[in-house]
Amino acid sequence: MAAPTVDSKASSMVTEAEARAVAEAARETEWTSPSFVAELFNGRLRMDLIHPHPEPDQEDAARAKPFLDRLAQFLRERVDADRIDREEAIPPEVVQGLKDLGAFGIKIPLEYGGLGLSQYHYAKAMQLVSSVCGSTCALLSAHQSIGVPQPLKLFGTTDQKKRYLPKLARGMVSAFALTEPGVGSDPAAMETTAVPTEDGAAWVLNGEKLWCTNGTIAEVMVVMARTPPRVVNGRERKQITAFLVETGWPGVEVVHRCDFMGLKGIENGVLRFTNVRVPKENVLWGEGKGLKLALTTLNTGRLTLPTSAVAAAKRCLQIVREWGNARVQWGRPIGRHDAVAQMIGSMAANTFALEAVAELCSLLADKGGYDIRLEAAIAKLYNSERAWSIIDDTVQIRGGRGYETADSLRRRGEKPVPVERIMRDFRINLIFEGSSEIMHLFIAREAVDRHLRVAGPLLDPHVGAGEKAVVLLRTVLFYALWYPSRYLAVPAFLKYSEFGRLAKHLRFVDRKSRALARAVFHAMVRFGPKLEQRQAVLFRLVDAGSELFAMAAACSRAMMLAKQGQPEAIEMADLFCREARRRVQGSFARVFSNDDVPTYRVATDVLDGKHAWMESGVA
Ligand SMILES: Cc1cc2nc3c(=O)[nH]c(=O)nc-3n(C[C@H](O)[C@H](O)[C@H](O)COP(=O)(O)OP(=O)(O)OC[C@H]3O[C@@H](n4cnc5c(N)ncnc54)[C@H](O)[C@@H]3O)c2cc1C
Repeated sequence: MAAPTVDSKASSMVTEAEARAVAEAARETEWTSPSFVAELFNGRLRMDLIHPHPEPDQEDAARAKPFLDRLAQFLRERVDADRIDREEAIPPEVVQGLKDLGAFGIKIPLEYGGLGLSQYHYAKAMQLVSSVCGSTCALLSAHQSIGVPQPLKLFGTTDQKKRYLPKLARGMVSAFALTEPGVGSDPAAMETTAVPTEDGAAWVLNGEKLWCTNGTIAEVMVVMARTPPRVVNGRERKQITAFLVETGWPGVEVVHRCDFMGLKGIENGVLRFTNVRVPKENVLWGEGKGLKLALTTLNTGRLTLPTSAVAAAKRCLQIVREWGNARVQWGRPIGRHDAVAQMIGSMAANTFALEAVAELCSLLADKGGYDIRLEAAIAKLYNSERAWSIIDDTVQIRGGRGYETADSLRRRGEKPVPVERIMRDFRINLIFEGSSEIMHLFIAREAVDRHLRVAGPLLDPHVGAGEKAVVLLRTVLFYALWYPSRYLAVPAFLKYSEFGRLAKHLRFVDRKSRALARAVFHAMVRFGPKLEQRQAVLFRLVDAGSELFAMAAACSRAMMLAKQGQPEAIEMADLFCREARRRVQGSFARVFSNDDVPTYRVATDVLDGKHAWMESGVA
């Protein structure tokens, strides 16, 4: 019998419906554990899920402290981020030093030779690294957040763990290879294939992967490939499978090292696989489970980027505090001019909120029994977007020096403040590990999940008339109870009094969570199945939900810090919530009153070349 094959030509002709089907098949469909954000989109503020604020495990904290102290010292004394940026490489002694510290096995369990630390302390370590050098953070994070250790820990067999985890903990560099020239946000068009050998003992891997971080130096990587399709319920279903691939095997080749706007020191490349024989023991989790594995890995994997955002924001705050005092123009330190002060005040409040979001998500991930997929997606989206705006303001406050490189500043005798590099290094955070647009769509999909479960079959052309009648009745009954209850509530003034000055903000979150649930429902009724195409509408709903989550996280964290002797935290949370409320109001105001349709029309005309006349006058 001939071994099954995969038609790689057919894969590049993926329709929108096929792409959606692949994404849907990879979704985690069940909500078995509670989620604060899922409840929020359903109109219920469940502060009990995040307040009192969770705290790190004490035993874990005690073990983490000496490591974090040594790491901080190593970073201060041995990592020269400007040199890494200039020479476009992380010196081997830095990589070795990190290996010696155990920084390649932070979350790998002790029994496999790792440090066995929690997500929370892993994030603290990444925050330290990121605050000094983005490229070094990318090296460690591509290895541990998305590279081999995390999916192996979650889905590997005991044999796979024994074979790889001890080496990975000692510093065997790993990578994660999903992206291809035709596969960015949408994995359905994947052209890398793996077919079983006739004896079933191995798979033969062929294809090319793009932008694989650590790819040029990794010894082992998780590679996603299309495997032969399966027929499920009479329909052919595409399969994507994850493989553990060693780069020393015949047929694995680095064909190009990529060079980017920032993160100059990363070892990112194009990898080619030509008839690579992968033993069947190196399938990770199971045939056809690759995409689900990638998405599940990313649920916690993408928590590193929110932490990097905190690091960048804190570094910026330090820079503007110093410069805002030192730089005198028009007879005053620039920080005392209202326009600059407004930026600094807002930066401080937002930095507080970014840390609240990042820490809360890491602690919830460690707690277990909690579904963090929505929280993690919001943390990635929200923190990277807000930190980008903080960095932008920092460039503005530093004026011309914000645009000048650290090396140039140093050469002419000024303090080499690397704002220009921070900006270059940070920009990619809004694109990789789920771009901002894809995160919006992911959150929106999960936010409407409850409604789709109830009423979804009404929109499904494959559901027969009889079944639809039953679903319709069930839907009417469900909404007869659900909808009025999204208006009714215990009078707000009776709630949240233990939050003192912040109570009014939580009452706002409480009211607006019901408004959010109603708005989601109204949007579904108004646009029906076309809502999926109205991304700008969905994005505003997601933005409102994200702000409400950040407000709740900031209030919970402020109360914890105030109790621990940091009452100033209340002021930060208060200012953040004031700002966030305006953004929430703005998002709600534009859900149905907006310029989306004329804007889409102009975009279509631009794409069709009707406005090419506007492009004249450029050389
Ligand atoms: C420095 C760097 C490191 C990377 N490291 C890795 C790695 O280690 N492993 C790996 O596998 N990949 C890696 N990547 C790839 C990265 O994950 C992708 O760049 C990312 O997934 C986006 O894919 P794309 O660039 O092809 O953009 P595309 O998917 O082509 O998207 C282009 C734009 O269109 C938007 N868009 C796409 N689809 C939609 C939609 N349905 N609705 C609305 N907007 C949409 C996107 O948000 C984006 O703005 C890396 C990339 C870079 C630059």
